[in-house]
Amino acid sequence: MNTPAEQKMQFLFALRSKGVTDSRVLSAMEVVDRAPFIQGTFSDRAYDDTPLPIACGQTISQPSVVGLMTQALNVGPRDIVLEVGTGSGYQAAILSQLARRVYTVDRFKRLTRSAKEIFDAMDLRNVTVFCEDGSHGLPSHAPFDRILVTAAAEDPPGPLLQQLRVGGIMVVPVGQSDAVQSLIKVTRTETGFDYDELREVRFVPLLEGLGEE
Ligand code: SAH
Repeated sequence: MNTPAEQKMQFLFALRSKGVTDSRVLSAMEVVDRAPFIQGTFSDRAYDDTPLPIACGQTISQPSVVGLMTQALNVGPRDIVLEVGTGSGYQAAILSQLARRVYTVDRFKRLTRSAKEIFDAMDLRNVTVFCEDGSHGLPSHAPFDRILVTAAAEDPPGPLLQQLRVGGIMVVPVGQSDAVQSLIKVTRTETGFDYDELREVRFVPLLEGLGEE
């Protein structure tokens, strides 16, 4: 069994070797411990570079994918960020280290409640959690400088595109849930949207309406 310090070094090494090179992203991932976001039998695998099951049949993403998505989002210290798909809350906690304010939305009450408890325990004061269908965005707090979607949509949802500020960036996995999806970076310009395809990914689907738990 490795010491916690060795585990952390291996964790950061795995991130770098998968292409997470942005020093601000790496230090955010060094500061935010992944273990509290994983409950039960899988908690001893918190520092493995692997996705893991969480409540409500959902998954906490693979750390290197969290790192690469965060890096692609290019978050600045004055940015207001919307995350759709709170899940465990891990990705939102990373964003909270880089942004001015983070709004994160999930369709399961059980997940938003548990994420909020962890944010409170970590004293993360710039993250606000909502239980809503995030495919409509969060009109009351729009526009956003950055939007990160952590569930796969068949197309980038229209309301999210509309709630992106000009000059803003959205990163979203696009494709059918049972197939390989593409991670897309959308940049809003004065006249429209630019689309860049980044890499293949696998995410749970973006579903309509609220969840039952
Ligand atoms: N970012 C998370 C992992 C997300 S898993 C983490 O760091 O742990 C994808 C999440 O998207 C799931 O929790 C799922 O409930 C949520 N989701 C799916 N469709 C949604 C929708 N329409 N609105 C809000 N959340 C949604």
